[in-house]
Amino acid sequence: MTLTSEEKEIILNSIRDIPDFPKPGIIFKDISTLLSNPAAFNTLMDHLTNRYLGYELDYIAGIDARGFIFGAILADRLGIGFVPVRKKGKLPYTTVAEKYSLEYGFDEVEIHIDAFVAKDNPDGKGAKVLLIDDLIATGGTAKAAANLIDRVGAHCVEACFVMELGFLKGREGISAPVYSVLQID
Ligand code: AMP
Repeated sequence: MTLTSEEKEIILNSIRDIPDFPKPGIIFKDISTLLSNPAAFNTLMDHLTNRYLGYELDYIAGIDARGFIFGAILADRLGIGFVPVRKKGKLPYTTVAEKYSLEYGFDEVEIHIDAFVAKDNPDGKGAKVLLIDDLIATGGTAKAAANLIDRVGAHCVEACFVMELGFLKGREGISAPVYSVLQID
């Protein structure tokens, strides 16, 4: 269940650092090189599948847009549903929205109001949901997404990230347990 140091290296080495993107001072963690590396991608997805097999999850919720890739594959592997948490204005049905602050200004994420149905409870109350994204930085996006899951009556049992920028302490703002595959200091 725990990754060996060799497996961690395979995943870490497949991620490309792009300095000063999208603006000066940011080191952008580019996962396109992880996605195009079958050995690294498979190592990651096998690890996540093994970790979450025993959680008896009802759904995976993925954050727009890179969380969709890992989340949808994991949901399919676990035989459960996938729910997108989208940026404002993209979901067609009735939504619940949550604003969060960026360095300058605000952004907003949304979820469909009827996104979750619990297996034992058709009104969706208490559906067990894993939240997933590629990276947690300040944690603002994930906190808003976790709040949305709770606000529509489900339960965010864990928030999972491929990478965590530990020095930003984003995990501290999230009420659910946080798991990150790679910690970056
Ligand atoms: P935050 O809300 O600050 O935790 O930011 C997390 C979101 O922004 C995630 O959806 C990430 O994909 C993206 N993000 C933030 N910082 C980076 C980074 N250095 N490299 C790649 N993606 C990032």
